[in-house]
Amino acid sequence: MSYGGPVQGRFRDSIKGEGMKHSLVCALGLAMALASGVSSAQAPAQVGSQVPGYFRLAVGDFEVTALFDGYNDLSPKLLKGLTQSQIRALLARRSIETPGVQTAFNAFLINTGKQLILVDTGAGQCIGATAGMLSDNMKAAGYEPSQVDTILLTHLHLDHVCGLVDGQQKPVFANATVYAAKAEADYWLDPQALAKAPEGAKPYFKIAQDSTAPYVAAGRFKTFDAGQSPVPGVEATLEAGHTPGSTTYRFTSQGQSILFMGDLVHNLAVQFLHPEVSIGFDVNSQQAIKSRAKVFSDAAASKTWVTAAHLPFPGIGHIAAEGKHFQWVPVEYGPYKRAAKVPLIE
Ligand SMILES: [Zn+2]
Repeated sequence: MSYGGPVQGRFRDSIKGEGMKHSLVCALGLAMALASGVSSAQAPAQVGSQVPGYFRLAVGDFEVTALFDGYNDLSPKLLKGLTQSQIRALLARRSIETPGVQTAFNAFLINTGKQLILVDTGAGQCIGATAGMLSDNMKAAGYEPSQVDTILLTHLHLDHVCGLVDGQQKPVFANATVYAAKAEADYWLDPQALAKAPEGAKPYFKIAQDSTAPYVAAGRFKTFDAGQSPVPGVEATLEAGHTPGSTTYRFTSQGQSILFMGDLVHNLAVQFLHPEVSIGFDVNSQQAIKSRAKVFSDAAASKTWVTAAHLPFPGIGHIAAEGKHFQWVPVEYGPYKRAAKVPLIE
């Protein structure tokens, strides 16, 4: 950039003559007021709350809105494959030295112009006061839950399905049909599976069944086989490991793609540099590691947009490959669509 050249236009005029004198007088006045401890007005009360949790991105003709449902803390001890001191060192590189790693619950709304599709629904009422913000943030983003016609679940863990229902187990999405991979539904929704599950795992099966129950009863829960697409134009791919039916969804419009990869990654500081690190929630960790490496490699090669349910909000970015390692390149805040003519400073 070159800001060293001659100043031009109005700016040049304002620092010459009267404009410059006026600026000096103002600056002197301010300096005197500060020196004497006099301020002209009290600061207003602080707002004290976060701005609404949504972020918008255009992908071809599709409008993608990331929605923040909330967060919890995950213990680094859940990460397996390196020593705890190695994991702690990787976290420290990103200034994380707390006992838990703050971990977001992201969901994504896609308006294709023909359909309003929600990918995952957040943790809803299942984990306490730090989650369940999806509906409010959806409204802040300009949509109503009743407008959602299709819900695609990446898998049936509680932090993805609990948002389907409210605290009274009533459906939040009155007009939506919910889709999950058949392998996923078979694993979690079979009543026999709940009966046979180890005590510690029973709540996960029960929550998956309770959250989907009103949709199943209304005939609005559907499954699809591996290789099938639940929605025309959306590519669904079975990436088993984290759960038996974990699925990624790829939307493409006007030659641009965005891949919704759900829980193929949980930790930004560790799992891009070390995709071989698994997490305690994986049903089959070796399979999950393979799925992660494959999806990371494909996403890096194709340079597609990627979203993840638990990366820092909005959980949208690109993946770059660096040998056997990867790097997350988060989207930056900016205009929804860039102007036709953007000033280029050279
Ligand atoms: Zn999850």
